[in-house]
Amino acid sequence: MLKTKQDVSNFLKEKKISPTSQRVEMLYKLIQKDQHLSPEVVFKMVNDDFPKVSRATVYNNLNLFIENGIVRKLSLGSISTVFDTKNEQHFHLHEENSDELIDVRTNEETTGKLSEAASTVLKKQMGSGYKVKDVIINFEKV
Ligand SMILES: [Zn+2]
Repeated sequence: MLKTKQDVSNFLKEKKISPTSQRVEMLYKLIQKDQHLSPEVVFKMVNDDFPKVSRATVYNNLNLFIENGIVRKLSLGSISTVFDTKNEQHFHLHEENSDELIDVRTNEETTGKLSEAASTVLKKQMGSGYKVKDVIINFEKV
């Protein structure tokens, strides 16, 4: 676990990412807890510390974190994207009205079966050479 900003800086160096103060500050804030954040919220978070930062810079840094598997990108339909700072593999329950996103651990029996089913469906539809990244169950109160 990355506890201090120095830890974050060293971690970025290990990943061959230049640890600029902006990146260190940004990642440090992102990983303080497991959270799902919209691009706009991430931008505002960084903007608090670096008022002159551009959206493009923030989004480039986010993409760098995604490419290196530090942060996960989730697409909820065509317009909504959130960034997930929880590191371990998990699925999602998505409440459509409130847009609430709930983490579901994948190592339990039911989610294990779900994972297996999703892999089978994917393979049947797309052939081999693909893997399930996430299972998102959209739900609403009835
Ligand atoms: Zn999540």
